[in-house]
Amino acid sequence: MINAGSSSLKYSLFAETHDKRLERRTDGGIEGIGSDKPFFIAFDDDKYQIDEYHWDKATSLDELLAFLIEWIEKFLAPDHLSAVGHRMLHGGTLYDEPILVTPEVLENLRKLIPLAPLHQPRILTVIDTLAARYPGLCQIVCFDTSFHKTNPYIAKLYGLPQSLTDKGLLRFGFHGLSFEYVSMELKHIDMHAAMGRTIIAHLGSGASMCAMIGGKSVASTMGFSALDGLVMGTRCGQLDPGVILYLLQHEGMNAKELETLLYQESGLLGVSGISNDVRDLMKSDAPSAKTALELFVYRVVRETGSLAAACGGLDSFVFTAGIGERSPEIRAAVCEQLDWLGLELDERANQLGELKISKDTSPVSIWILPTYEELMIARHGARLSAECEAHQP
Ligand code: ADP
Repeated sequence: MINAGSSSLKYSLFAETHDKRLERRTDGGIEGIGSDKPFFIAFDDDKYQIDEYHWDKATSLDELLAFLIEWIEKFLAPDHLSAVGHRMLHGGTLYDEPILVTPEVLENLRKLIPLAPLHQPRILTVIDTLAARYPGLCQIVCFDTSFHKTNPYIAKLYGLPQSLTDKGLLRFGFHGLSFEYVSMELKHIDMHAAMGRTIIAHLGSGASMCAMIGGKSVASTMGFSALDGLVMGTRCGQLDPGVILYLLQHEGMNAKELETLLYQESGLLGVSGISNDVRDLMKSDAPSAKTALELFVYRVVRETGSLAAACGGLDSFVFTAGIGERSPEIRAAVCEQLDWLGLELDERANQLGELKISKDTSPVSIWILPTYEELMIARHGARLSAECEAHQP
């Protein structure tokens, strides 16, 4: 699968085993796209680094992509590639399922560019390049919005005029591939937790939370764009729309400047003035670093109350992604402020990063489940590649 982010181009190569499981063979990618020092790094199936390459000047996406494809060709003959899965941020109102790329789908995906202008064009460039190089290659797109298609209509609605709602100005929600993977894992581990009222907190550099009943999403903290909800590494999270009006009318900002402010200069970075990385803020003695972390936790706690209301109570709470999986301090601070809701943390299990970190007496079970969006995409790819073969002449 290929994950074309705003500054990175990551790949993971999976192979199907005899018993139809998918095993990772290699992964890695190019980071720092757009900077003057992009670099490539690759790992084997044991996560050992097997290759790296550094550029000493800014390099175009086309050139970097050609490099990546050639590297993958060296690793695996291209005719062995049965399908390539792509992660796509936004399916809009057009797509709520992973789908095979056809000329008609491509045409529609281009129409969705305004919904995610930073991400969507890159992914389309990658799809076009692969299609030109390997005509007939099965390509699949998986949408981060799909998992939330089960949200009730009321949960999707903004208080805007119907004419704008009809144009697709709705709450969509994101990180769907992560939520889908984690909810499937939870089913293997504890069916009771998975089939009850569950909140998954995906706390990475992008962060959002999803409320589920019986494994189906009923509400999420992100909305029309990936800006809403929690305070993130560099994104602001929930914001009074009046702030935007003020910045437009009284601070002389234009749309592009607002986009940079809200996506890249806000969040933990903006509040602390130090870093977007929780690890740096933990190490810092600066009061602004402490404030940024307190705000991060406060927003998780506030949103938990809101999501618990959306599912009428809570049976289990799952931490995932970089911060959720690796920061016992943030998990402890969140759980401490949610004891009123029935989250009783087992401090030792939390420090050790165990799978289940709630006390046996806790009314709400608490879990740490590593996310694996790449595997989720590969699974969709493997499933749909059979359909693709059926379409081949
Ligand atoms: P992405 O959204 O880029 O996939 P990740 O899920 O990998 O992000 O999360 C990245 C973030 O996780 C980092 O910015 C950092 O804040 C946080 N993080 C990673 N490791 C740790 C750690 N050991 N302790 C606290 N935070 C961590």
